[in-house]
Amino acid sequence: MGTLLENKKIIVMGVANKNSIAWGCVEALQEQGAKVILTYQNDRLHRSLEKLVGDDVPLVECDVSEDENVEKAFQQIERDFGKIDGIIHAIAFADKETLEGGVLNTKKEGYNLAQDVSAYSLISVSRYGSQIMAEKGSIVTMTYFGSERAVPNYNMMGIAKAALEANVRYLASDLGERKIRVNAISAGAVKTLAVTGIKHHRDLLKESQSRTVDGESVSTEEIGNTAAFLLSDMSTGITGDIIYVDKGVHLI
Ligand code: NAD
Repeated sequence: MGTLLENKKIIVMGVANKNSIAWGCVEALQEQGAKVILTYQNDRLHRSLEKLVGDDVPLVECDVSEDENVEKAFQQIERDFGKIDGIIHAIAFADKETLEGGVLNTKKEGYNLAQDVSAYSLISVSRYGSQIMAEKGSIVTMTYFGSERAVPNYNMMGIAKAALEANVRYLASDLGERKIRVNAISAGAVKTLAVTGIKHHRDLLKESQSRTVDGESVSTEEIGNTAAFLLSDMSTGITGDIIYVDKGVHLI
């Protein structure tokens, strides 16, 4: 076991199941000595998380689609656990019709919902989360290469990820004075629940794997390890940045 995150309390938002990128993060953070607190979207996810973590990890409800929920969740976290040292934001959503319909056919409601949950939520999470964060705090979100290139079928989510990445830069600037850092990991494609919402996701996963430098997809463990580094004091010089953890897919 490592000591990179000893005495650090980290909030992880976005575990749906064992395949989630956020779960890879939880395991990596715990491996480095962090105390982890999970937030969950709704009762259904609460039940599946209870099975996953038992009594070992505290669970706090937080559906990020309403600011009040985010504010309430961080108030509850402060009340129950005191100051925090970091947050992992691994949340995204777009409805099926919007994702599958192509960008040209995107309706305003679908556009707004995807932006709201996938990009704006980083702003509200950073606002309320930073209020209870110790100095040298760190916030990490998850993005994807479809923000920069028109990846087939990634559609609206690519637009939301572009906004998310801009949010990272401006939030890093806003929070810099308080010595709180904000970064994104641009993760390679991995098979999670969210990915199955993308049309022809098997092709996306296969194509992505074939473009890695060694022909093997990146793992959630590898993504989690980078998140652990970004949450640790080893990375105090890095903020407002997008770190690729995709085994070179974006290069080739
Ligand atoms: P996942 O389905 O395991 O996780 C998505 C999470 O978002 C779920 O836990 C879900 O409950 C949560 N969520 C959705 N709407 C929410 C809301 N309103 N309030 C609170 N939580 C909400 O899938 P994942 O692939 O692990 O996704 C995590 C992040 O990683 C997402 O931002 C995703 O875009 C990003 N990402 C995924 C990949 C990939 O290939 N899987 C690649 C790059 C980036």
